[in-house]
Amino acid sequence: MSAAERTYDVVVLGAGSTGENVADVVVRGGLSALLVEPELVGCECSYWACMPSKTLLRGTEVLAEARAARGDQRRGGPGPAPVLGGGYVGCEMATAWQALGSQVTVLQRGDRLLPRLEPGE
Ligand SMILES: Cc1cc2nc3c(=O)[nH]c(=O)nc-3n(C[C@H](O)[C@H](O)[C@H](O)COP(=O)(O)OP(=O)(O)OC[C@H]3O[C@@H](n4cnc5c(N)ncnc54)[C@H](O)[C@@H]3O)c2cc1C
Repeated sequence: MSAAERTYDVVVLGAGSTGENVADVVVRGGLSALLVEPELVGCECSYWACMPSKTLLRGTEVLAEARAARGDQRRGGPGPAPVLGGGYVGCEMATAWQALGSQVTVLQRGDRLLPRLEPGE
C-alpha cells in the first residue's frame, strides 16, 4: 500500500527542522505521521542556514587557531565587509569574515546588536 493510500493520525506539511521535530514527537507519542516535503528534507537549516553557517564558523576558528600556533600575524581575508543587520545571522557572518582577516562593519538600526535575543532593561 502506498503512502497516499494509507490513513495517518497526523499529516505534517514540510520537513524542515520544525516538521521533522513535530513528526518525531507524534511518532514517539505512539501515533502515525505522514511527513510531506516537496523539496529537500531538512530544508533551510540543513542546506542554507544553521549547518552551513556553523561549518563556516568552525572552519574560520580552525584557521585562526592554526595561524596563532604558527605565529602567523597575516591579515587579509575577503576585502572590507559591510554586514547589513546585527541580528544573529549578521553577527555570525561578521564573526566568520573577521576570523578570515577582513575588516568588518556591522550596520545595525538602533543602538545594539542582537536586539531580539537580548532584551533591553
Ligand atoms: C545563517 C542562519 C543561521 C541560523 N542558525 C540557527 C541556529 O544556529 N539555531 C537555530 O535554531 N536556528 C538557526 N537559524 C534559523 C533556522 O534555520 C530556521 O528557524 C529553521 O530552519 C526554520 O525551520 P522550519 O522547519 O520552520 O522552516 P523551513 O526549514 O523553511 O522548512 C519548511 C519546509 O516546508 C516545506 N513546505 C512549504 N510549503 C509546503 C506545503 N504547502 N506543503 C508541504 N511542504 C511545504 C518547504 O519546502 C520546506 O522544506 C539560522 C538561520 C540562518 C539564516
